[in-house]
Amino acid sequence: MTIKNFRNRRHFLGSAGVLAGMMLNARRVFGLPAVIPAPAQERLTGFGATGNVYEELGVTTVINGQGTMTYLGGSLPRPEVETVMALAAQHFVSIVELEQAAGGRIADLLKLPPDYDAVVTCGAAAGMQSGLAGILTGNNPKFIEQLPDLTGMKSEVIIQKSHRNGFDHQLRATGVKLIEVESREDVKRAINSKTAMMHFSNFANAAGQIKVDEWVKLAHENQIPAFNDAAADTPPVSHLWDYANMGYDLIAFSGGKAIRGPQCAGLLIGKKEFIANALLNNSPHEDTLGRGMKVGKEEIVGMVKALECYLNEDHAAQEKEWWRRLDAVSAEITRVPGVATSFNVPDVANHVPHLRIFWDPRKISLSPRDAASALRNGRPSIALGSSEGGLGMNSFMLKPGEEKIIAAQLVQLFKSHTA
Ligand SMILES: *Cc1c(COP(=O)(O)O)cnc(C)c1O
Repeated sequence: MTIKNFRNRRHFLGSAGVLAGMMLNARRVFGLPAVIPAPAQERLTGFGATGNVYEELGVTTVINGQGTMTYLGGSLPRPEVETVMALAAQHFVSIVELEQAAGGRIADLLKLPPDYDAVVTCGAAAGMQSGLAGILTGNNPKFIEQLPDLTGMKSEVIIQKSHRNGFDHQLRATGVKLIEVESREDVKRAINSKTAMMHFSNFANAAGQIKVDEWVKLAHENQIPAFNDAAADTPPVSHLWDYANMGYDLIAFSGGKAIRGPQCAGLLIGKKEFIANALLNNSPHEDTLGRGMKVGKEEIVGMVKALECYLNEDHAAQEKEWWRRLDAVSAEITRVPGVATSFNVPDVANHVPHLRIFWDPRKISLSPRDAASALRNGRPSIALGSSEGGLGMNSFMLKPGEEKIIAAQLVQLFKSHTA
């Protein structure tokens, strides 16, 4: 390792250094024994000693121009989140007590309505499963043990057909049957004494006949709880409280997407009783459907910090930077004859600037799919989206300067396929 690399690595580990300093002080003040493993990474031997765990495992790291994709690792957690997670790892606590305290803190941070609470789950998908499980079982211990056998409980969830987009497996895992509807008339016909919940997939808002505000009204007119899966729907930050204010009984968000919390964390927000019953159906409680969806003390604490940081962020400045990166890529690549770009911002879900990249096939003979796989298989490896029309990218998961690498690789790729 060169001295320069060594310095960079130390710089990178700055937050761990701060943490080590805090630990030392705590030890001095409280006279604690040195139970805390020294986080001095320079002394790490064996696995991790090079500072690049992925390279040591032979796994290629990726420049992520695609966004908060779970299969690429979601997002990069904030250093502050990692710091509090390391602090959380120093003590034993009652997980239930911690969940309730953290949930209360989160409800305060988000200024949720007074009858709302929150609980940290191991992801938005887990929040959906445990949230629905709680609606089905209430606080009945027999029912909690019995799931997914629904004998004695309600057993149907109403969902718009266009909202069946691959994220409802966790609902079905509770044993319920999904009843698909399209029109308002369909909803009226579908509602019966077995209806447990009406589920909404926020990012499918435009696709369905019934929009987000009307769906919750229809549910409440019929005394049915309404759930909104808003997993990827920050930014804008206000979505964290908008759907509670709209009246949704339960709302799920991913912690490991744009909020940049722990990767295996999510947030379930909702009416107090539903939140309490969701927790009863989740780890750490044994013999529950959600026992397999363990949430650690580190994730719970990390999620509180991630939300605090996210709320304090200069969102306008960040959005400006995201635009600047895309503008920089666009300016470079449109210098190649035949290449054109356009910009868009999806209304909901990944509501961040996107760049579309397309080209004249008579000038550049390369399919969008081949272009994407050439970038992904190149070095450095770059992940961009592709469709029939061309390539697509966003810039909110890029590390500083990576937009320049993407632009250079694209220019090279287009030039090498120019007739
Ligand atoms: C990502 C996502 C989920 C799953 O969220 P996790 O936090 O990864 O569990 C659910 N629904 C939608 C719409 C998503 O985008």
